[in-house]
Amino acid sequence: MRRPLRVMKFGGTSVGDAACVAKVVEIIRTASRESDVVVVVSAMSGVTNKLIDAGTKSEAGDGASVELFFKGLRERHDVVVNTLIHSAAQRSRLSRKMAVLLQEGERLCQGTTLLRELTPRARDSISSLGERLSAPLVAAALTECGVASQAIEATELIQTDSCHGAADPCMDVTRERCDAHLRPLLRKGLVPVVTGFIGATAGGVLTTLGRGGSDYSATILGAALDADEILIWTDVDGMLTADPRLVPGACTIAEISYREAAELAHFGAKVLHPKTLRALIHCGIPLWIRNTFAPEQSGTKITPAGPPNGRGIRGLTCISDVAMITVGGPGIVGVPDVLGRTFATTAAVRANVLLISQSSSQNDICLVVSSSVAKSTVEALRREFAHDLAHEKVEHVTLDPTVAIVTVVGRNMRGSGIVGRTFGALGRSGVNVIAIALGSSECNLSFVVSREDMKDALVTTHREFQLGCTEYTGANVTVSCDSDTPNADNA
Ligand code: ASP
Ligand code: MG
Repeated sequence: MRRPLRVMKFGGTSVGDAACVAKVVEIIRTASRESDVVVVVSAMSGVTNKLIDAGTKSEAGDGASVELFFKGLRERHDVVVNTLIHSAAQRSRLSRKMAVLLQEGERLCQGTTLLRELTPRARDSISSLGERLSAPLVAAALTECGVASQAIEATELIQTDSCHGAADPCMDVTRERCDAHLRPLLRKGLVPVVTGFIGATAGGVLTTLGRGGSDYSATILGAALDADEILIWTDVDGMLTADPRLVPGACTIAEISYREAAELAHFGAKVLHPKTLRALIHCGIPLWIRNTFAPEQSGTKITPAGPPNGRGIRGLTCISDVAMITVGGPGIVGVPDVLGRTFATTAAVRANVLLISQSSSQNDICLVVSSSVAKSTVEALRREFAHDLAHEKVEHVTLDPTVAIVTVVGRNMRGSGIVGRTFGALGRSGVNVIAIALGSSECNLSFVVSREDMKDALVTTHREFQLGCTEYTGANVTVSCDSDTPNADNA
């Protein structure tokens, strides 16, 4: 009988220290009894952030801090090696391998210091080091416990475009490579341990898939191998109905559709990288989110269609590091192509527009962008409309940095009275809604509130739709901090 194939990804906190790696080994060992397993690992928690920081410091010429950082990095990995690997031969093989990697990292930083320039390509190479260190470590820990295993770098498996820092895979080549490199290992009964987060261009240049991208690595490999299941092991019980730090009583969602999960991920639920589900659209493989530290919990199952009779609303998310820009005044009615020019400008400064609303009178256009690009976007818009502002055709381009977006995610929302109930409840709670966007996809309703109202808006909406579960025990509802990016299970 064919053994099922599972791709299991472990995030930064899951491989954060020796005790955690030991838990991971146990989970893989159990799974490998009944299925073929491909493991994907993140860097140890905190490492990627520090590597990026080392790159920036190298560019600034701060060689001393960088040297200190590499010393700490070596020590942190050594502790795990010394705790988990008892065979002297294995230990020295692993130490040699790590020394080579660390030296490569240090050289890249030294080169950056010489040039005083951190290119996107160098930044990717430096920040990939965490995964390249953790994969051999986990593979050795597995072998030590009798689970034959081999580390493999995703640069040999995942071919990507050359968009450094946010690369996307070329699936045809990736599939061929997985067949050529991973299947033979599986046939030999080995557990391959693949570096998350990275790939390489057709020319072999290392790329990264974006912060938190190891989730995406897992679905890319799962899709390429036609896996039966993908499991993302993290430090929370699954996807939650809301951020439990803001909404007491938020609970784990048992089952959710790809679409809804992608909406939640896009609008701030950090448990999954927003692109994760993209790789699965054409193959329909179920994806689980499970807790490494509470493996008895069943987690969240993400399936193409979600549960058969799921309620209309599945969960709430929010993004608070955003700012609202308004281009407006009655005069803009007569200005040609205001919308086209506005969005050509945001595109030119690479500002990702998270929400748009425009009154049909065209009196003003309001858009929400992330705080990091708000200032540059406003400046670019003021330049674009300088002439119209001078002639008062456009009265203002303003910035409000004190807002937040709250998003209600569900499905088949049309006709279910969700809009009325949401705003009715918010009105009764005294929350002032500043702008609204309701996608015609009927799976999300987003609105802008002032940041100080965000918590109330979430609590009120959560209560209105009774999203808290009655059997909620209060256990294990922390938000993922398996990572460097705040509240995300990255490393
Ligand atoms: N280590 C990478 C990061 O922190 C990728 C990941 O953990 O998913 O962004
Ligand atoms: Mg993550």
